[in-house]
Amino acid sequence: MDWRWLGWQLYDGEIWRPTAAAYDALLQSQWASPAELAALRAERLELILRYALETVPYYRGSGLPARLESFPVITRQTLRDQAAALQPEHAPPGRISRWQTGGSTGEPVTVSVDIEAQATRRAALLRGDLWGSRLRPTDPQAGLWASSRDSGKLRSLRARLYDRFFNRFVFNCFEMTPARAREVNQDFADCGARLLYGPSSAVLAFMHFAREAGIEPWQFEKVIPCGEHCSAEDALEMSAFFGGFAVDRYASNEFGPIASRCEYRNWHLNSELLAAEVLLDDGSISTAGRGRLLLTSLCNRAMPLIRYELGDFADLSPLACPCGRGLQTFSSLEGRITDHIRCPDQRWVNLCTFNSYFQHLPLRKYRFVIEAQHRISFLLQADQDLPTGDLDSLRAHFETLLGEPFRFTVRQVAEIPSLPAARTPM
Ligand SMILES: [Zn+2]
Repeated sequence: MDWRWLGWQLYDGEIWRPTAAAYDALLQSQWASPAELAALRAERLELILRYALETVPYYRGSGLPARLESFPVITRQTLRDQAAALQPEHAPPGRISRWQTGGSTGEPVTVSVDIEAQATRRAALLRGDLWGSRLRPTDPQAGLWASSRDSGKLRSLRARLYDRFFNRFVFNCFEMTPARAREVNQDFADCGARLLYGPSSAVLAFMHFAREAGIEPWQFEKVIPCGEHCSAEDALEMSAFFGGFAVDRYASNEFGPIASRCEYRNWHLNSELLAAEVLLDDGSISTAGRGRLLLTSLCNRAMPLIRYELGDFADLSPLACPCGRGLQTFSSLEGRITDHIRCPDQRWVNLCTFNSYFQHLPLRKYRFVIEAQHRISFLLQADQDLPTGDLDSLRAHFETLLGEPFRFTVRQVAEIPSLPAARTPM
């Protein structure tokens, strides 16, 4: 008996119980035939489109037929400007969580997610994360994340117990040095983690400093570089370094997990949760070919996103995959890239670190510009005038964070034009 799995099924304080049920269902459905999954998708799609037309102000009264082909494309801008109109007047039952997204693009938006969608997303993430391994959902997982929650330094007993019971640990990768890499390597060993996930740049930074420090790296069965682009070469290097199977995954805060790579390293979409299309160069929309990815969420009633343009390019042409899963395959993905700043004192600081400083400001967008070596400008676009004192204090914080000889300029601008590929690079 796996008592942790039993705990997942019984614990109702959060969303572990619905996650366990959704996970069991997804384990079955991945082996359904492509035709069966297409039928399931069509059925769920019709339900969500009807729901949107009946209850969501943005669509209600539009007179659109309940067919995806008739719906307009929406973007991050729509989500920012029409956030209230994209949510039903009466929220679905259960706790609604709000996920802020835009960390890697500097254009924050908030997405509401209902409890069922949260559970399904967690379950789908878990399913993909365990592909190509013999791991069970309850095996210890370590995250190397730019997070304020660090399992190695947690003070609260409740948080420590929670991490220990559910075998989920997070370690801070704000800054990497040889000494920090040694500490994190020991944390991995202490929690007995079998799976490691984290931004590719953070995993690579850890590897770099672990080598520099001459550490024997803790071995993982699976390594998942995520949140930004990871090259095939980097994934293979991670496999060799950690002794396990390393493959990236594709997820966003708007949709949760979108696709994972199977044991053959082929991408499979979470076909039960999403309908995928691409906006081609000629302006037409297709379910195959290369273009700007449009996704429709099939399970989130707190904010049904329909034909949402995520800002990534993908080639949806299907591949034949020998793994036997019926989930849709696709050829390629051009995702997000973030990076680190290397400080003269040998620390590597993840760019996501800066996001935490902006959370209390009413920002629409920010852009980070490297003007010259050690000279960095932050351009901020906000809905209202930002006090000069705030900008000065941000500048002082950044200069303290990175240390000499870095110099920052922080200034408010009226408009930050979008880059051709919004997510690459930051
Ligand atoms: Zn496969």
